[in-house]
Amino acid sequence: MEVKKMWIGGEWMLSESGTTRDLINPANEEVYARVAEGDVADTRKAIAAAREAFDHGPWPNMQVTERAAKLAKIADLIEKDGEDLAVLETTGTGKGLRESRFDVADVVSAFRYFAGLADKPGGQTFDVPAPAMSMVLREPLGVCGQIVPWNYPMLQISWKLAPALAAGNTCVVKPSELTPLSTIRMMELIEEVGFPPGVINLVLGPGPTVGNELAASQEVDFISFTGGPIAGRSIMQAAASNFKRVALELGGKSPNIIFADVDLDLAVDYALFGIFVHAGQVCSAGSRLLVEESIHDELVSHLVERAQKIRLGNGMDPESEMGPLISAPHRERVENYIRIGIEEGAKLVCGGKRPAGLTRGYFLEPTVFTDTHPQMRIVQEEIFGPVLVTQKFSSEEEAVKLANATKYGLAGAVWTNDVTRAHRVARQLRDGIVWINNYHPYYVEGPWGGYKQSGFGRELGTFGLDEYTQIKQLVINLDVAPVRWFKN
Ligand code: NAD
Repeated sequence: MEVKKMWIGGEWMLSESGTTRDLINPANEEVYARVAEGDVADTRKAIAAAREAFDHGPWPNMQVTERAAKLAKIADLIEKDGEDLAVLETTGTGKGLRESRFDVADVVSAFRYFAGLADKPGGQTFDVPAPAMSMVLREPLGVCGQIVPWNYPMLQISWKLAPALAAGNTCVVKPSELTPLSTIRMMELIEEVGFPPGVINLVLGPGPTVGNELAASQEVDFISFTGGPIAGRSIMQAAASNFKRVALELGGKSPNIIFADVDLDLAVDYALFGIFVHAGQVCSAGSRLLVEESIHDELVSHLVERAQKIRLGNGMDPESEMGPLISAPHRERVENYIRIGIEEGAKLVCGGKRPAGLTRGYFLEPTVFTDTHPQMRIVQEEIFGPVLVTQKFSSEEEAVKLANATKYGLAGAVWTNDVTRAHRVARQLRDGIVWINNYHPYYVEGPWGGYKQSGFGRELGTFGLDEYTQIKQLVINLDVAPVRWFKN
């Protein structure tokens, strides 16, 4: 089997140690590719290449329209190669091909959007006491380490890489060791566009070695991380080595609040989409369904009826509606939460088992728990699988209180036809994004990121570009005269 390589300093290379990793398709447990497995030495090489490209290469000072044109070209090539990329994404992650196609379209949008933003004027000037003028410039940060998880491999990279490049930074990208193949293909397309060597580097391998080296290195200026809280904490600690800037996009336990005045079928439809798309392996999954008491039982009965009909299968099969979990250990972790839920006394009303008839692949049935209380672990902790818990509320005040009663604050949704209540509740939720009568959409134009322990920093939108810049103030003396602070 051909070993897919890392891209460092403009060269494709194996790891120094010669180690490789086999990639497993989560839908059938078969090895589908082999990739180089880097470690600390390879990461240092990639960081050195990015450092050299930033400190001595043409990239940071290149005409900004030229940088923008390269980003637009990346978007074009990805669009052209879209179907192949979508297939790679489905093979690696298990998500349905339909969803992977959406991901590719979003990746294209991200590169196009930041290409468009790159050449817009960014500075400011201020009136300060004469005879002076103050100018504010936005300059690139330097070398950026970018670490992403396995659930949206290409998409997460595009949210980081496109703004970083638009702002003139150089990058070392580290995909999840479980799903690097689509990123490798993306890098091949990026190579076709043509960048000075070292502007973009791809290093493959595990978090505790490759990822940690990026976070700890003295030569990296910014680390942008998307993933779980354990790695996030470790990255923040490692980043203290040189006080590098950090942005963390962490997990969630997002509340989807449904008031009794809504159309029940619509609310059920979006609740299913909120939790079961990509088998619940979505950071913003609507994993807590808060339902007004008067409609709770009826809504849950509709929801369960439909959840039981979701067709599980390989994402390449157009009949499949929900794919597998990413790996055997991850499925065991989710199953353990189901056991915990039962032990805690919640009522399992749907799913909870591996589906009969799907003996290969890490599948798990859509699962729903009712009769929960707010302190249960299944209510408080991110499960990252197809497990929904319901909570009842009897007043608007209680809904808000329950919604905010976790350590997370990534996303939330409010369903009601009362526009003033929708705004009132949305304003009180401590979440980085709140949907009103919707679930899940994100747009390249709008910011994405968390409150509380869901992290800090924002991706996408103008905020996502700002993240990759630092601010310099230039003060110009317009009438140079002696200051004479000291008399002699
Ligand atoms: P993870 O934290 O285990 O891994 C994410 C990435 O970090 C991988 O590339 C991994 O190799 C690397 N990593 C692991 N340990 C590291 C360390 N000590 N130092 C540096 N890098 C390290 O997460 P995962 O299991 O791949 O993904 C699931 C998590 O990601 C969930 O908690 C989910 O909520 C979160 N997530 C958040 C968002 C968001 O936008 N907020 C989006 C997607 C996923």
